[in-house]
Amino acid sequence: METINFQNIQHVIEANKRSTEESRIMKTKALALLQSVFGYPAFRGSQAEIIDHVVQGGDALVLMPTGGGKSLCYQLPAMLRNGVGVVVSPLIALMQDQVDALAEVGVRAAFLNSSQTFQQALEIEKKMRQGELDLVYVAPERLLTQRCLELLEICPISLFAIDEAHCVSQWGHDFRPEYIKLSVLHERFPEIPRIALTATADHATRAEIIKRLQLENALQFVSSFDRPNIRYRIVEKASGRHQLLDFLRAEHTADAGIVYCLSRKKVEETAEFLIQHGVCALPYHAGLDTKVRTQNQARFLREDGIVMVATIAFGMGIDKPDVRFVAHLDLPKSIEGYYQETGRAGRDGAAANAWMSYGLQDVVQQRRMIDESDADENYKRLQSGKLDAMLALCETVHCRRCHLLSYFGQSEGAEKACGNCDICLNPPHAFDATIVTQQLLSAIYRVDQRFAAGHVIDVLRGMDTERIQQWRHNKLSTYGIGSERSEAEWRAILRQTIAQGYVRVDYDSYNALKLTETARAVLKGEKSVQMRRYEKPQKATKQKRSVSKGYTEANLSIETQQLFEKLRHWRMETARLHNIPAYVIFHDSTLRDIAKARPHSLADLRGVSGVGEKKLETYGAQIVDLVALQT
Ligand code: ADP
Ligand code: ZN
Repeated sequence: METINFQNIQHVIEANKRSTEESRIMKTKALALLQSVFGYPAFRGSQAEIIDHVVQGGDALVLMPTGGGKSLCYQLPAMLRNGVGVVVSPLIALMQDQVDALAEVGVRAAFLNSSQTFQQALEIEKKMRQGELDLVYVAPERLLTQRCLELLEICPISLFAIDEAHCVSQWGHDFRPEYIKLSVLHERFPEIPRIALTATADHATRAEIIKRLQLENALQFVSSFDRPNIRYRIVEKASGRHQLLDFLRAEHTADAGIVYCLSRKKVEETAEFLIQHGVCALPYHAGLDTKVRTQNQARFLREDGIVMVATIAFGMGIDKPDVRFVAHLDLPKSIEGYYQETGRAGRDGAAANAWMSYGLQDVVQQRRMIDESDADENYKRLQSGKLDAMLALCETVHCRRCHLLSYFGQSEGAEKACGNCDICLNPPHAFDATIVTQQLLSAIYRVDQRFAAGHVIDVLRGMDTERIQQWRHNKLSTYGIGSERSEAEWRAILRQTIAQGYVRVDYDSYNALKLTETARAVLKGEKSVQMRRYEKPQKATKQKRSVSKGYTEANLSIETQQLFEKLRHWRMETARLHNIPAYVIFHDSTLRDIAKARPHSLADLRGVSGVGEKKLETYGAQIVDLVALQT
C-alpha cells in the first residue's frame, strides 16, 4: 500500500489556496479596472466569468449578441496579463476608431494594417517589442505574414482575440479565407490563451469555428441571444418607400438608423428619395467609390442622426451604440441575416426598432435569385430552406421574438410572448382560410397553371381585361368567385399559400403559379388552412417610444432635456475638434445620466456610469462648467 505523503498534499493545498487567492485578487483587479478605466459599475452577463477564465490562461469561445459587451472580454484580460493582446479583426476601416476609443479611456492600443506607411508600422512593432502596448489590432492577412509571425515570437503576448470569428464559416456571407489559416496561432503559440468571439448564433457556424480554429478545448460561453430592447415589426408592403418615410417621421425624426435594400440601384434611389423628403440620408454599397464609401461610413459614425441606406455590405463591426432603428425595405435572405442586421440597432440597451416591409414581390424576387444563381443544387436547396424559414417568420401569427429565439435553438425566453413585437402588441386575427385557399388553388388549376399572380387574381375578382377575353377565362367556374376581396387582400392570401407551401412560382415560365403536391389535400377538403386576416396597411401614427419592461426612453423633465441637448452639442463640437466619433466621447446614456445628476464637482461626476478616470481628467472640468452655466 502506498503511503500518503502529507507533505505533498500540504503542498497541493497550499498551491490551490494560492491559486484561488490569485484568482480572487485578479477578479478584484478586473472589477477595479472596469470601474476606473471604463467607468462602469459592474460586469454584465457572463463577462466576469469569461475574463476570469482568460486571465488564467484558458481558451474561450464567446457567443454574445451584438451589443452584449464582447470587447471587454478580451480588453480586460489583455490589460491584466503580461504582454500585448493581439486582436485579429477583419474590420480595417474601424480599427482607427477602436484605437481612438481606447486612447480616450487611457488604454495603450494601436493597429497594424495596410492603411499605414512602413514607417508607422515600424513604430508600432517597436512598441510591441518593448512591451509598451496593451492591445494591438491586426488584420488577418497581415498577421499571417512571415514578418508578423516572427515579430510575435519575440514579443511578450498576453492573448489572441479572434473577433468576428464567424468569418471562418464558408457558408456565411462574411467568409474570409485568411481566417481559416488562423489555426496557425494554436500551432505556433500553444501556451497563449485564445478567445474567439462572434454574434452569429447558429449551431452550424459554432461547430465550424471550433473545428477550423482548433478550439475543441475552449470553454464555451453562450449568452442569451434575446435583444429585449429591440421591437420587431414586419408590415405588409404597400408602397415601401412612403411607408418607410411615414415610419421615420412618426418615430425617428433626427435619429440615427440603417435602411437595408437588396440592390445598389435601390439603395441610391431610396437615399435620394429620403433626402428629397428632408431626411439626412447617405448611400452605402460596394459599387460606390471607396473614398465616398469610407466618407459616408465615417459621417454615419461621427455625426448624430444620419440614416444610412445600404446593402448588406454595410454593418459588420459597426459598433455605433445609438443606432435607433434598422429598417428592411426588402426581404433578407435568411433569418440569420435578418437577426444580424437588426441586431445593429440599440447596442446601448435603449429602446430601438427593427422594422420591415414585405410583400409578394419580395418572395418572387428572392426565389428567382436562388433559381437563377449558378450555385450547385445542394446550395440552392439550402438557400431555399432558409428563405422558407424567413417567410414563416413574416407570416407567423405568434410572437416574433419567440419565433426567432426558438429558430436559434434557445428555449429561454422562447415560450412566453414578449410584449414587445408587432404581433404581441397588435395580435393579428387568424381565420379559417380553407375556402378562400380552395378558391385560389382551383383558379390556378383552371387556368392550367400557366398564368402569373396578376391574371389569376383578375380571374378571381371577375375583372374584364383583354387577356381574360382572349383566353375566354370569363367562362371559367372560378371567374368572379372572389370579387368581394381587394387585389391587395388576394395578394396577401396568395403570399400565405406560398409561405405555407401550397403554391409555387415557376420562374422558367413567366412566373406562372403552380400547385404543389400538398395543394391536393386542401382542394379535396382533407386539410384545413389557417391564415392571418388581411388588414389594410395603416399610415404610421406617432407612437410613444415607450416599450414594456422598462425600456422606456427616460422621461426627462424639460430642464434636464435642455441640459442633455446642450451636452450633446458640446459632444459634437468636441468630437469634431478631436476628429473622433461622438459616441467615443460619451454615450447618449451617459450624457442623459449626467443631465439628471447635474454634477457640481468632479467627485459628483465620477459616479456616473461611463465616466472613467481618464475621461474625468479630459472632460470633467468642461462638463462641470457646462452644468453650472445651466443652473
Ligand atoms: P459587442 O462587441 O458585443 O457588440 P461592445 O463590446 O461594443 O459589444 O459593447 C456594447 C456596448 O456596451 C459598448 O458601448 C460598451 O461600452 C457597453 N458595455 C459593455 N460592457 C459593459 C458593462 N459591464 N457595463 C456597462 N456598459 C457596458
Ligand atoms: Zn412578441
